[in-house]
Amino acid sequence: MEGLRELLIEELKDLYSAEKQIVKALPKIIRGANSDELKMAITEHLEVTNGQIARLDQVFGQLEEKPKAKQCKGMEGLLEEGSEVLSEEEKSALRDLQLIGAAQRVEHYEVAAYGTARAMAEQLGLTDAVELLAETLAEEEEADKKLTEVAEALYNEVNTADSGEESDEEDEDGAEGEEENVESKASSRKAGAQKKTAPKKKMAGSRR
Ligand code: FE
Ligand code: ZN
Ligand code: FE
Repeated sequence: MEGLRELLIEELKDLYSAEKQIVKALPKIIRGANSDELKMAITEHLEVTNGQIARLDQVFGQLEEKPKAKQCKGMEGLLEEGSEVLSEEEKSALRDLQLIGAAQRVEHYEVAAYGTARAMAEQLGLTDAVELLAETLAEEEEADKKLTEVAEALYNEVNTADSGEESDEEDEDGAEGEEENVESKASSRKAGAQKKTAPKKKMAGSRR
């Protein structure tokens, strides 16, 4: 079982690096988030993540290994994609949805990695390590679920803003082309609102 033990240590080093990268990246996402719900969800997960690093320290301790990080390139790439969103888009509900997409990729990566580490610890009969890794795994799944909830609220927000502009469209049937012109003029006057109207036009079209 010497080989498997080494593999587990490699997984733990990868996770140690991943969690430390996340702790560095999350404050930027908190600052960049538009909605308070997203800010709160990520702030909470930042605190949770510090606890997860402490748990990894404990697992290394149980293996009588010094806690060490080995650069996790997967997490580096995922976080890079998140920071691209921050630098390329303006703050908005739509950007929040992109940030959530990036953050959920991070959580799924962690779910996979902790699942692997837990399975290895199980095989090695490391009962305490299994328990610690399972606790973190549950937190990552919880974070993913929470992000889905925040996204659902944001979709409602985006859709409500759209149907608000659209509300008098319902009682005039034939003049859709005209209305689209009025609408696009109106929305281009409002800075930042342009993108919100895009998915709605398709819906209006399909209703005919
Ligand atoms: Fe984590
Ligand atoms: Zn990795
Ligand atoms: Fe996480």
